[in-house]
Amino acid sequence: MKNSQTTLFTFHKIREQGEQGNEGAWRAFLDFYSPVFFRLLEIHGDIDGTEATRILKKVLEALTANGFERFRATSRQSEREFLGDIRGLLLEVALETAVHPAQAESSPGVIFETEKIAKLLEDLPLLHKEMLFFKLSGYHDDTLERVLRIAPRVAEKAFERLTAEYAPARNAERERCPWPAGWLAFLKRVREMKTDKCLSTHQFVRVHDGQVSWYDKEPVEKHVSACLHCLDSWTGIREVGYWRHAADPVSASEIKELLAVLPIQKPPTKKSFFARLRS
Ligand SMILES: [Zn+2]
Repeated sequence: MKNSQTTLFTFHKIREQGEQGNEGAWRAFLDFYSPVFFRLLEIHGDIDGTEATRILKKVLEALTANGFERFRATSRQSEREFLGDIRGLLLEVALETAVHPAQAESSPGVIFETEKIAKLLEDLPLLHKEMLFFKLSGYHDDTLERVLRIAPRVAEKAFERLTAEYAPARNAERERCPWPAGWLAFLKRVREMKTDKCLSTHQFVRVHDGQVSWYDKEPVEKHVSACLHCLDSWTGIREVGYWRHAADPVSASEIKELLAVLPIQKPPTKKSFFARLRS
């Protein structure tokens, strides 16, 4: 169910008026996007409940500090680019602040060494790489099928690579990464691996939407296939696009709680008729 106060907002309006501290824009931002952020925290970080709310509050503070500085730096072009950017910030804050039983994870640093993951994905078609990447992050096959609009069984051969230490990703009981602390740390390293050859998420959105010719698409896919940094952004764009429409809405009271941490203008409270008479 949509919040009736926010249905008139579009992404562009949220992006434009959000940086001016407009209360309605932020209410719409939270109504539309906090469900996405909660799902991302749950899957990649095995984080939910009050812990997830605490992390999202920190993200809101980071976005709005110094006159909305970080928020102003987000993409204006499309909702998915905008959400892909905030996804990076969110997962980073999750890594820094979550009270993770990191010690309980068996040598997460080792299984998520970037060279090891690159090796795990080696020589696979891009789609299979994406599927394997999503599997490592905790996705179940039925969700993956909806995200990628293709049955994950096409990548069965790729999934067979998930043996020994990676085996928990194949059949995780809950749809959550089996090694959240190790995985979030890996994603952070991958985000830092950006080179000047890396492509913009705008290009990824155009390829996903079929807006480019084969001639333009081929080099993009080739680069993403060979670059963990871009594979993360590429799959990130897909998942935010999916959850934007599939995630369960959050309650009005939760939105109210999140709104309270924002440095925004509250609309003047209307005085009642009798209060006006008295003043
Ligand atoms: Zn790259």
